[in-house]
Amino acid sequence: MHAAAIVAAAGSGSRLGADLPKALVPLAGRPLVCRAVDALLDGGVAEVVVVVPAAQRAQFEAALPTGVVVVDGGATRTASVRAGLAAVDPAATAVLVHDAARPLTPAAVVVRVLEAIAAGAPAVVPVLPVVDTTVLVDDDGLVTDAVPRAPLRRVQTPQGFDRTTLEAAYAGLDADADLTDDAAVVRRAGVPVATVAGDELCAKVTVAHDLVLAELVLRSDDSPEASW
Ligand code: C5P
Repeated sequence: MHAAAIVAAAGSGSRLGADLPKALVPLAGRPLVCRAVDALLDGGVAEVVVVVPAAQRAQFEAALPTGVVVVDGGATRTASVRAGLAAVDPAATAVLVHDAARPLTPAAVVVRVLEAIAAGAPAVVPVLPVVDTTVLVDDDGLVTDAVPRAPLRRVQTPQGFDRTTLEAAYAGLDADADLTDDAAVVRRAGVPVATVAGDELCAKVTVAHDLVLAELVLRSDDSPEASW
C-alpha cells in the first residue's frame, strides 16, 4: 500500500496567542508541524503534503524537511484539505489527514490507522472514550439532560482513507462546506467510518496551556522523546 499524508497547517492559531502561525510555534525547539510530519514518516507514510497559510509559505518551506510538498491552504480546514488532496501523488492508494496541531502523536497510532486501511476499511479514525459526565445545557447554562457516555468517543487525527473514497467525498461536497474533520466529509457521502484506539498524546495544541503540558510530557521520563 502506498500511503500519502496531508497535514493541515494553514490555521492562524489565534487562540494560542503567538505571533507565528500555530504550526510554526516551537515545542522544545522544534515546530509543531515538523513534529507532526515526523510521526507520519515514522509510522510508514511514503510522502507528506503540508498545507500552509499562503502568506507564510517561505517560513514553512524553510522549516520543513526536504521532500515534503508544500501547498497553499484555504479559508477553512475543509478548503485546506481539499487543496492538499489535489497535490497528493497519483500513485498513492491511501491518504491520511492529520492536524499539524497534534505534535506528540505516536507513530503507533499512524501504524494502527494504516493497518485498518490495508485491511479494507474505507475510512478510519483514532478515538478515545469520554471519561467525564457529559451534559446538555440550555441558553442560560442550566443542565437540561445528561448524555449517556458509554457510546461517546473523542475523535483525533491522523484519520485514514482509501484515496478514491476520500476524493469522491470531497468532489461531492459543496465548495463552501466547513466541517471539523474528514470523517465528517466521507460520512456525508454515506461511507462507514471505522475506529482504532487513539492516544492521549495525540491531543491538539489549541491554547497556551496545551503547549506547556506538551513541553512537560517531552521532559518526562516516560516520554519516547525524553532524550531531547
Ligand atoms: O482550528 P483547529 O484547531 O480545529 O484546526 C485544526 C487544524 O486545521 C490545524 O492544524 C490548523 O492549522 C488546520 N487548519 C487549516 N486551514 C484552515 C484552518 C485550520 O489547515 N483554514
